[in-house]
Amino acid sequence: MPQPTAAPGSDATALLREVVTRDRAAAEAASVEQQRQNARELVERCRALLAVLARDSRATPMAVAARRAMTRAALARAALRLALIERAVSGKTDWTAEVCAQADSLLAEAAIAAPCHPVQLALNDMARALAAATVTVDDAGPIRDLLQRCMERIDAGLAVIVAEDRFGVDALNSGTLLEHLAQPLHTPRERDACLDRAATAYREAITHFIRVGNVPLRTRAEDKGGALAARRARAAPPPRFCGACGKPVQPGWKFCKACGAPLRASAAH
Ligand SMILES: [Zn+2]
Repeated sequence: MPQPTAAPGSDATALLREVVTRDRAAAEAASVEQQRQNARELVERCRALLAVLARDSRATPMAVAARRAMTRAALARAALRLALIERAVSGKTDWTAEVCAQADSLLAEAAIAAPCHPVQLALNDMARALAAATVTVDDAGPIRDLLQRCMERIDAGLAVIVAEDRFGVDALNSGTLLEHLAQPLHTPRERDACLDRAATAYREAITHFIRVGNVPLRTRAEDKGGALAARRARAAPPPRFCGACGKPVQPGWKFCKACGAPLRASAAH
């Protein structure tokens, strides 16, 4: 039986899943030697994943940026873990160089990427690991500087993200309000105009949430927009006169009984 062909980019997904699983397991390994081995393997997996992501042209830029940031954060954490183990085992004094190099790569990438939630989460993950290292070891000067720059990058991204999210939430709330306001309106034209504005508000909300990768709120805005469109399609009044001959027609008729012309789909569907 022929093997199903893997979709492009699916190897990246599998690798990313493995990196996340190993990243979680690495901290729980029993022996120091096991932890060292895990950290080394994780570094290798992350490097392989970055190479795959570099030639992934299928995913959207936002998705690629998010995956690269997650991988770089995992790589920086693994490098940190490995460096701390080497430091404890062999008393290495210049243990921070590789950690700084990896963390700098993530900071450089975050600096050019549009600020978004996934990159922010990756920066947070790295910052937490760096902060933990600065309290557990006393010779973490370079790490402390790195943490400082990491927090500055997080703050810079946060300012943009908070603004985009607020615009999105405002638009989402406007859509909900406009839907409520449309209900008591008596003329179909006024109601339609109000619901048009609600639909526009939901589309605006979606645009803002896409820009910053806010998946939960984007999904909510899409659900509300979709539900509104579906409700309006169901509520659309059936044609009352045949468009071809102008004779009155009844709801549910598919063809005009006078001239046989097809009638537009109605509430019956
Ligand atoms: Zn007709």
